[in-house]
Amino acid sequence: MVDLKGQYKSIKDDVNPAILEVIENTSFINGPKVHEFQKNLENYLGVRHVIPCANGTDALQIAMMGLGLKPGDEVITADFTFAATVEVIALLQLTPVLVDVNPDDFNIDVEAIKKAITPKTKAIVPVHLFGQCANMEAIMKIAKEHNLYVIEDNAQAIGATYTYSNGKKAKAGTIGHVASTSFFPSKNLGCYGDGGAIFTNDDDLAHTIRGIVNHGMYERYHHDVVGVNSRLDSIQAAVLDIKLKKLDSYNKARREAANKYNEAFKNIDKISTPYEYGTPDNHVFHQYTLKLKGVDRDGLVKFLNENNTPCGVYYPIPLHKQKAYKDSRYNEADFVVTNQLVKDVISLPMHTELDDEQIEFIASKIIEYING
Ligand SMILES: *Cc1c(COP(=O)(O)O)cnc(C)c1O
Repeated sequence: MVDLKGQYKSIKDDVNPAILEVIENTSFINGPKVHEFQKNLENYLGVRHVIPCANGTDALQIAMMGLGLKPGDEVITADFTFAATVEVIALLQLTPVLVDVNPDDFNIDVEAIKKAITPKTKAIVPVHLFGQCANMEAIMKIAKEHNLYVIEDNAQAIGATYTYSNGKKAKAGTIGHVASTSFFPSKNLGCYGDGGAIFTNDDDLAHTIRGIVNHGMYERYHHDVVGVNSRLDSIQAAVLDIKLKKLDSYNKARREAANKYNEAFKNIDKISTPYEYGTPDNHVFHQYTLKLKGVDRDGLVKFLNENNTPCGVYYPIPLHKQKAYKDSRYNEADFVVTNQLVKDVISLPMHTELDDEQIEFIASKIIEYING
């Protein structure tokens, strides 16, 4: 699904000395590389504060802790996403409120958010799924009307640019009150281990969060709040700083691969290629996900597995049906879209090193199965 080796080979001459430098300096934790990367990412995103941390799941949890959400507060998020999003809500003893997504862009359904708001609702967590920004303008409007926080889960869309209806642009992860991202190796900006970050334009919130990531310390050995230990290490920061400079070209390579897949499938009625909401740079193709119509998806997966063609199903089970997150409040009629998507979606290999031959081979195998 991803070709991390091919990408590493192309940047090895920069990455190897950068990693060695950290080792030679033995500045493994909180070294100058971490600060440098943080500043460079702030500049790239156009955001006031980037707070690095250990992974994308921590980033979400810490963002929620920073906002001071309290047990029993309701947090609305999408039913069709990776479990990390709902996991941290539950861990903090907040109440997850899962809602359905749009059938076209797979992102959180704005009307469903409106329906789910109660006096206990405190926050909305839109996930920019598969690399495409959710409808942030509408979500920010609802949040303002109901006095809610918006936490962007930006693990899959770093580098995407959201365009408002008046033409104004902003990077994904800089629009809500706070955002989280992940530097897991396969993400669009991935390191060589675990990593994550929190973004915010709010100076007070940034200060609070900087203490939370460091055991709740604002002054050495004074613990003002309950915190966590969540750090990005210097070796990862050194890798990320090199890859950040290439992020736009990496995302461009993903888009080019997506366009080639689109072309290959354009005459196949049983395949919907990814719908794009907004301007083209609204989507950075963390995943290239097809929606099948009247095709046995699991049969196709089996056929591809037997034919040396990687594929993935993100996600096969709606979160509201997962054992850990089942809740008697949920009504199946409210999850019509997600319940169908989990049967119809399939994701194809998507990374920065895909060549025409690979894309043609993958597409031809899928078409072969569908045309049976
Ligand atoms: C990857 C991912 C996360 C978690 O990131 P980790 O770094 O693996 O903890 C959270 N949310 C979404 C949507 C993700 O894709």
